[in-house]
Amino acid sequence: MRTDMLIENTWKGAATGRTIDCTNPADESVIASIPAANAEDVEQAVDAARRAFDGGWKQTDGKTRAAHLRRFAEGIKSRRDDLAQLETKDNGKPLPESYFDVDTATQIYEMYADLADQLDENGEEAVDLPDDFLRTTVAYRPVGAIGMITPWNYPIEQFTWKVAAAIAAGCTCVVKPSEFTSLTALMLGEIAVDAGMPAGVINIVTGTGPDAGEALVTNPGIDKISFTGSTVTGRRVMAMAAADLKRVSLELGGKNPIIVFDDVDLDRAVEWTAFGAFVNQGQVCTSTSRLLIQDRIADDFLGRLKSLAGSIVVGDGTRDGVQMGPLVNAAQYDKVTGYVAAAQTEGATVFAGGGRPDGLNTGYFLQPTILTDVTPDMSVWREEIFGPVLSVMAFSDEDEAVRLANDTPYGLAATVLSEDTERAERVADQLDAGITWQNCNQVVVIQAPWGGVKKSGMGRELGKWGMQNFLEPKQKTRWLPDAGIGWYDPSTAA
Ligand code: NAD
Repeated sequence: MRTDMLIENTWKGAATGRTIDCTNPADESVIASIPAANAEDVEQAVDAARRAFDGGWKQTDGKTRAAHLRRFAEGIKSRRDDLAQLETKDNGKPLPESYFDVDTATQIYEMYADLADQLDENGEEAVDLPDDFLRTTVAYRPVGAIGMITPWNYPIEQFTWKVAAAIAAGCTCVVKPSEFTSLTALMLGEIAVDAGMPAGVINIVTGTGPDAGEALVTNPGIDKISFTGSTVTGRRVMAMAAADLKRVSLELGGKNPIIVFDDVDLDRAVEWTAFGAFVNQGQVCTSTSRLLIQDRIADDFLGRLKSLAGSIVVGDGTRDGVQMGPLVNAAQYDKVTGYVAAAQTEGATVFAGGGRPDGLNTGYFLQPTILTDVTPDMSVWREEIFGPVLSVMAFSDEDEAVRLANDTPYGLAATVLSEDTERAERVADQLDAGITWQNCNQVVVIQAPWGGVKKSGMGRELGKWGMQNFLEPKQKTRWLPDAGIGWYDPSTAA
């Protein structure tokens, strides 16, 4: 297991020698310690990324970068077990979900390899002009050295969404993973080096947000910050980046609704709802945290949902059959249980779960939790909880459902379940969200744009949109006539 930082294909500790412990959330044991980088370390990594970018990487063709991405994907396949096991130990998610993340990451590297190939094939885009004396094309150029800051909920995926797209575009990277889950990012760095990635193209610094993260955002050698994390931190990152007009893209939080109409197949709808609320312990930016259930079926639906939630096997994610692991750390456990307690004080009812599962006294385990008697002013209805807690309200008609769903400062994802596909389409069109799901939930289409409206962020990741994040359009206009413009010709003066 790599526990040092990757700078210019060399493994290094922090300049100060300080470290941060990495804890297995299933048993609270310390499994490793990683460098606590400061501005000096970040500076070295940024210098390395700049040298690599200016020293030749920006001039590589798409085919060369595609070949690097394909070798990286092959390397990941060969370390599939190591990556999945480490992800579960560091983050807590059940092992099958870690395998899913590794496999999806592999597909993403391959997809961006194809897109890098196409960048060459498609060449420059011609602009249609009304006049015949100009020829204008648009070339796409890499933005430069990118600072990437990622959260702890999908460590392998978040690294991949940014790094694969940036490399395809011809950028170089300095990644700062979450201080709570940096180990698989370091393993990915090791795989990249073994796969022949040139020095300085991928650099990884570990450390806290205030020390390493802020040093990265404010470093003048960085051309763009690609940030994924909470809305509070995103706002701070954007303000800091504004000082030198650094480009930013932000993937932030959500308070995502699911609307369930009374014509659904109940069992199928219950499963999509539970999947949305409890997968990855509810620690998903698009997690379903607000259920809007049509009043006629509310009792029946909630009875079935409670029974499904109660059957979910919670435990150490490395154990066979476990379907939900622990929350990522003690702070997150306290935050999520604090929301449940506050909801009860405000008048909500714990309809299912709400506490530690029996027999799991060590580790940050929480039962899948459903809250009823929730009102629109309660904190559990308005704020992102980021845990396995679903708040429920009933509605009577379509207009009320849409109004309640959109009554949030966030706009990341929204789901509608109805057998009436025309209604599902109509409602999806009215939902203020960057991602909508009809008759499914949390299905990540890696070829399609991912990101939020309102306070859920700006910019899009995945698909060609993810690569465009790291490209600048460059206008190239050529004068065609064999003559000058004649602007200062005295014979034409008025
Ligand atoms: P966070 O904002 O606390 O931290 C995210 C990253 O930012 C970490 O690497 C952290 O070290 C760093 N950071 C913290 N303070 C910083 C600062 N002052 N300057 C620079 N960097 C700083 O978020 P988290 O708790 O790690 O992750 C959970 C959040 O991420 C949730 O809000 C979730 O919705 C969001 N998220 C969004 C998406 C998306 O695609 N929209 C995906 C995953 C997670």
